[in-house]
Amino acid sequence: MMELTPQEPKATLLVVDDMPANIHLLATSLLEEYEILVATSGEDALELIQDRLPDLILLDVIMPGMTGHEVCQRLKKDPRTQGIPIIFITGQNEESDEIEGLKLGAVDYITKPFSLPIVMARIRTHLELKHYRDLLENLSYLDGLTGIPNRRRFTEHLDFVWSQAQRQRTPVAAILMDVDHFKAFNDNYGHQAGDECLTCVAKAVANTERRTTSLVARYGGEEFICIVPLLDLQEAAGLAERLRMSVVALALPHGFSSAASHVSISLGVASKVPKVGESWSALLEQADEALYKAKQTGRNRAFLAECV
Ligand SMILES: [Mg+2]
Repeated sequence: MMELTPQEPKATLLVVDDMPANIHLLATSLLEEYEILVATSGEDALELIQDRLPDLILLDVIMPGMTGHEVCQRLKKDPRTQGIPIIFITGQNEESDEIEGLKLGAVDYITKPFSLPIVMARIRTHLELKHYRDLLENLSYLDGLTGIPNRRRFTEHLDFVWSQAQRQRTPVAAILMDVDHFKAFNDNYGHQAGDECLTCVAKAVANTERRTTSLVARYGGEEFICIVPLLDLQEAAGLAERLRMSVVALALPHGFSSAASHVSISLGVASKVPKVGESWSALLEQADEALYKAKQTGRNRAFLAECV
């Protein structure tokens, strides 16, 4: 079994039970290993979770007011909370209740009176499984070569940012980037050097734009994209220049480029306030046309969409 290393923060458990004595018993045993949150009703538990997401929930089934099963159903419906493992704890040991709880999406079921070492072991197992699930989910959003967000992550981010901008009538900027004469680089220096070049460029551009609402992703082969909400075209042009300079500053020699003696990028810059019902592909088309112009006019430069 995986041991959490000491430098990792303690996992947070939420214990929900209408009997304070039951909470006390569990909480005192778990306190050394975990951060403990407590609630004495289903309603309180749901309210508490609004402020702080626990890593696992120990949930009493029989409570006055909202039952544990109802709490579980609510949590499974909300995308923010549906991944939190829930272990039911109850005094009834009827098989039908156990099946009902598991059908609702609980990961486990513990019947009172319980053995503390077994409860502890099950908690550890389910936290470990959650840890690996989270890890896998993160990996599925990262580009395998460069380690920056991949196209799937980019699409989800732009969906979110675009619909928000649509409601608020605010702009979204897109900067499409392409490594100049990358094929010649690969052909002459080899694929290994080509991969290293892409990784360096990816890190340079990703480190240049770090606002939490922004995203820099690998868009395709040697193409990268940067999405920034609330940025108009002139501001986006300023950012594009910083992105371009971040790659120039790498000073990676490229003896087979007509654009520069070093690796460089061309950039297409667009910014748009989305109209109602308009898809974000309009924004990307503008950025793509601008990128084409940047390449046509000599590369290692940014071109703005309004001039297309
Ligand atoms: Mg109870």
